Amino acid sequence: MPRFASRWKLVLILGAILIAGFVGVNLANYLVSSQSVRSALINNELPLTSNNIYSEIQASLLRPIYISSLMANDTFLKDWVIEGENDLDKITRYLTEIQKKYQVASTFLVSAKTLRYYHTKGILKTVSPNVPKDSWFFTMKSHEGNYRVDVDANEANRNQLTIFVNHKLHDFDGNFIGVTGLGLDVVNVAAMIDRYTENYQRNIYFVDRQGFIKSHHDESMIDTVNILKMPGVDSVAKELLAGDNGFLIYHRDRDTILLSYRFIPELNWFLLVEQPEDVALEPLRRALFFNLLISAAITLLVMLISGFTVHRFQNHLENMARTDKLTGLFNRQYFDVLFAHVLSNVGRHTQQLSLALFDIDYLKQVNDREGHLSGDQLIQSIALLAREHIRKNDVIARWGGDEFAILFQNCDAKTAVQLMDKIRQRILATINQEGDTLCKSISVGVAEFVTEDTCETLLSRADAQLYEAKRKGRNRVEG
Ligand code: GH3
Ligand code: MG
Repeated sequence: MPRFASRWKLVLILGAILIAGFVGVNLANYLVSSQSVRSALINNELPLTSNNIYSEIQASLLRPIYISSLMANDTFLKDWVIEGENDLDKITRYLTEIQKKYQVASTFLVSAKTLRYYHTKGILKTVSPNVPKDSWFFTMKSHEGNYRVDVDANEANRNQLTIFVNHKLHDFDGNFIGVTGLGLDVVNVAAMIDRYTENYQRNIYFVDRQGFIKSHHDESMIDTVNILKMPGVDSVAKELLAGDNGFLIYHRDRDTILLSYRFIPELNWFLLVEQPEDVALEPLRRALFFNLLISAAITLLVMLISGFTVHRFQNHLENMARTDKLTGLFNRQYFDVLFAHVLSNVGRHTQQLSLALFDIDYLKQVNDREGHLSGDQLIQSIALLAREHIRKNDVIARWGGDEFAILFQNCDAKTAVQLMDKIRQRILATINQEGDTLCKSISVGVAEFVTEDTCETLLSRADAQLYEAKRKGRNRVEG
């Protein structure tokens, strides 16, 4: 039905505007927020993470460098080496003392003359230029500075940084006579990396200048995987290894990975801090989803309320447009519509059809003698009474001033006349009071539908019968 369609069209348009507005605002908000999250990650958070780790590494190295320098300047140590490395007990006691006092993982001394490697338990081995693992010692002599920090894989815990601070030992004339120093596990740095990994799902690892992974939470990758050949990161690895510090983006599977890197000269390694963009945007996505859900609920609510209101308002208007105010019956306009509809159905749903027109007798006189309000009341009472006496399918309407029409469906003229006469008698019996000077009554004209009838022809026949009833003296039914 067009009325129904227009009502829902309005509600749907309203809903569409709201949804478009909500979705537009929420999406714009999401895009702006995700841009700022990304730029915060690129410009602040990831570089800050690597700065913090770098500072922690530097701080962790300060003390061991100081201790190794103390050892290298110790006259006992110099004397012991110069005098021929005679008393093993003395050197092990010395190394044990230092280890205990400063609580480091290990202390050592390697002599340039005998190539013996002394540690807290005695002689560990003799270093050899042919053993790659010992190469650190043989490069120490020509090293520019007094000390060098070497990072070694810790066999026990490969993910933990074990740092060796190697310090040159000179005799009193400044000749190179060995290397002393200590090894320590950089627990703080490892803990910090763990914290970042846990809290922000950041992947933090170190690679050497060649690209080999040197420290990673996945220990199996250490020394075996090279970022130049690692899926995803391989696309930017070359640029990374050629640089000093910076920011790169690469894609792995369907993820976008933000990568901040910096070179740590103390370790001769690169520090890589990675963050999958998805993880950072997840809270925003959840907020977007939640906002859209609320928007949908609000839209639905507004649609329901507006639909309901429009429905009520429209019904109210329709009722007003088809109802006669005084009697509450249908008015003439609506009766015309219904009449045409019923007439078009005769022969299909309606077998027979009769039309009654009735008019109140001498209403003018009632008005004149008892007042216009009494005339109104009489019209109301008669309308009510007539309505009470017709069936559900019959249609009654106020035709004009004091004139009414009733369509009797599936009813021949004879029955309609009987029904109208019953109404006429009821009016006489119930409305007229004892002592009334005016008899309140109605005159009725009835006509039955015949084939070829139109609204006009049927009406005019009923009207003619009404005229006849009036002519014959009123208060009667003609049909
Ligand atoms: P008749 O027996 O010939 O029908 O006489 P009548 O006085 O009823 O005259 P008629 O039907 O020709 O005119 C209707 C009169 O009813 C005209 C008007 O004074 C009065 N009337 C029409 N509508 C209303 C109304 O809404 N209220 C009241 N109080 N009077 C009305
Ligand atoms: Mg009248």
